[in-house]
This record gives sequence, structure tokens and C-alpha cells, in this order.
Amino acid sequence: MSILVYIETQESEIKKSSLEVASYGRAIADAKGTSLIAVCFGLQDTSLLSQYGVDKVFNISTANDIHFNAERYSNTLVQIATKETADFIIVSSSANGRFLGPITAAKYEATYFSNVIGLPLSYEPVEVKRSCFTNKAFNHSISKNNKIVLSLSSNSFGVYEKPSEAIQTSIEHVESSSTLEVISIEKSTDKVSIADADIVVSGGRGLKGPENWYLIENLASVLGAATACSKPVSDLGWRPHSEHVGQTGKPVASNLYIAVGVSGAIQHLAGINSSKIKVVINNDPEAPFFKAADYGIVGDAFEVIPELTSKLKALKEA
Ligand SMILES: Cc1cc2nc3c(=O)[nH]c(=O)nc-3n(C[C@H](O)[C@H](O)[C@H](O)COP(=O)(O)OP(=O)(O)OC[C@H]3O[C@@H](n4cnc5c(N)ncnc54)[C@H](O)[C@@H]3O)c2cc1C
Repeated sequence: MSILVYIETQESEIKKSSLEVASYGRAIADAKGTSLIAVCFGLQDTSLLSQYGVDKVFNISTANDIHFNAERYSNTLVQIATKETADFIIVSSSANGRFLGPITAAKYEATYFSNVIGLPLSYEPVEVKRSCFTNKAFNHSISKNNKIVLSLSSNSFGVYEKPSEAIQTSIEHVESSSTLEVISIEKSTDKVSIADADIVVSGGRGLKGPENWYLIENLASVLGAATACSKPVSDLGWRPHSEHVGQTGKPVASNLYIAVGVSGAIQHLAGINSSKIKVVINNDPEAPFFKAADYGIVGDAFEVIPELTSKLKALKEA
């Protein structure tokens, strides 16, 4: 018996969502009295994983295969899970995790639970709580199978350090064929990606035009945040479509979401429900966003944002 977690990397760094997956895997391993195994692909330094309770790392050599490939990666996960008799394989709810999870479950003949929130409510049988309909509802699901693959909803568990006593690392070459080869990936931007960001500053039509986006960018830069926008803003070509958040755009599960001049239409809120703290800045006290927000500032963005940015800058420099 073991618990297996898939560790994602970005530019040789372990993604925060994977540290959350490791913390979550550790908690399940403790509950079941078993060991936690991490599988990563071409990670240069695996030592950080020992801080999060990982007992053993399979670092897969990626000499000719440096890009994510769900077919190949799922083959590898299944081979290791079979060898280590894993009863849980855990991935994050990132784009790659959501791609990898169901394929891995089908190959491993396991139950697949997506968007799981919190630790299982029971282990025999395994019962989990999952978010659905963009966090507007929750469902409780039971597995009739004792092999589970699950994707953990981002920011739903947290990242906890728990140093492990000894970590064994092995660099493995696992033979695995794929009908698909990813030749190259061209990033559209070097900025913090919305999906992985801790903080997101988002602008709506209240910003009046693209020439005013420096306000959003300056605030985001002080906070180390990603920038996002509402659908009309990207439809108007003020911002790239990659920044569009909502039902028809990207989901955001940040710790802090600051919405400036965004009315809070239901389709926008659908994409940000998983964010922990929502702050709205709007000059209309009746804007629907105030009902969904944790904190609100009723005011003109053109006055509030420069003031907020300079205060935060001063705080950082103090
Ligand atoms: C099928 C469908 C799917 C959709 N999907 C999405 C989606 O994924 N994401 C999405 O965002 N939308 C989506 N929409 C559109 C959505 O319904 C709203 O029209 C849209 O979110 C509104 O964008 P907004 O808040 O930027 O603009 P507006 O509704 O025009 O709101 C602008 C806000 O800015 C405030 N404001 C104005 N001036 C200032 C100022 N000086 N300072 C501070 N505040 C100011 C106003 O009070 C207002 O609340 C979808 C719609 C449909 C029908």
C-alpha cells in the first residue's frame, strides 16, 4: 500500500499546487499508516519534497521528452503505482492535472474523483466531498473500488511543511510509448499565470479603455500578482483573451482576487468562486460584486488604485 502524488514543475521549480498535493498526500498517508511516494519528470532538485513529507521520489528521466505528455506520463504513473501498490494517485486540478487524472484512472482501472475538497470523509469505502458547478454546489461521492485517482481542488487544503526522516530518490527511465509528441511550447507571456497565481488583480469595463491598464499593472506589480479581466474587456481587444476570467474564460483559485471596475455578473463570478478572499473596487454601491465580495471599496478606480498602489509600495519599502 502507498499513496502516490504527481509533482508538476514549471521551469524546473515545483509548482505550489504540487506542494499542496504533497501535503494532502502526506495527510492521507498518515491516516492510512503508509508511505508517500512522489513522481516527477526531469526535476533537477528533489530535496524540497522532503519538507512536505515525501518518503520516496521517482524522478523520471526526460532526456528526449521534456514536455508534458498525458499519454506517456499516465503510462509511467500506472507502472509505478502498480509496482508500489498505490491505492491513491493524487494530481492537482491544474490544466495538466485535469488532463492526466482521468486517463490515469482509466488505465489503472481506478475510480476518478475530480475537484476534491478536503480529506476523504471515510476510507472504507472512500468517500470524498467534491466541488461542482464552479463551486456553487458540492457533492459527496463514494468509490466502490479501492483504487482511487483524484484531482485536488486548488487552494482547498493548503500547504503544510512536515519534514520526512529519510527521502530516497531514484532517477528512473521508464519505457513508455505515445502517439503524440509535443515538439515545442511557446509561451504567450512571461507574466505570472492566472491559474497559478496567489494574487490576481482583475479589471473590467469600468477602467474605460486599454490606455488605463497601467493602473491594474502597477497594482499587480507591487503585489506580485497576475492580471486578469472580464469578458467584454478581452472581446473589445483591450486585453488578451488569455486574461479573460469567468464561465467562458479561465477559472481563478487565488488566495486574493481584486476586481476593479467589474460589475460582478454571474458569468464572471462563476470563474472566481474558488478564490479565497475577494475584494471589489467599484463606484456603484449597488454593483452585484459587493454581495459576493469579502471586502469592498466604493470609489472611483482612478482615485482609489493609485492611492492603494502607493500605500502598498510604501509598506513594502518600510
Ligand atoms: C453566455 C455568456 C457567457 C459569459 N461569460 C463571461 C465570462 O466568462 N466572464 C465575464 O467576465 N463575463 C462573461 N459574460 C458577460 C457578463 O454577463 C457581463 O456582461 C460582464 O462580465 C460585464 O463585464 P464588466 O463587469 O467588465 O462590465 P460592466 O458590466 O460594464 O461593468 C463595469 C463596472 O465598472 C464600474 N465602474 C464604472 N466606472 C468606474 C470607475 N471609475 N471606478 C470604479 N468602478 C467603475 C461600474 O459601476 C460597473 O459595475 C458572459 C455573458 C454571457 C451571456
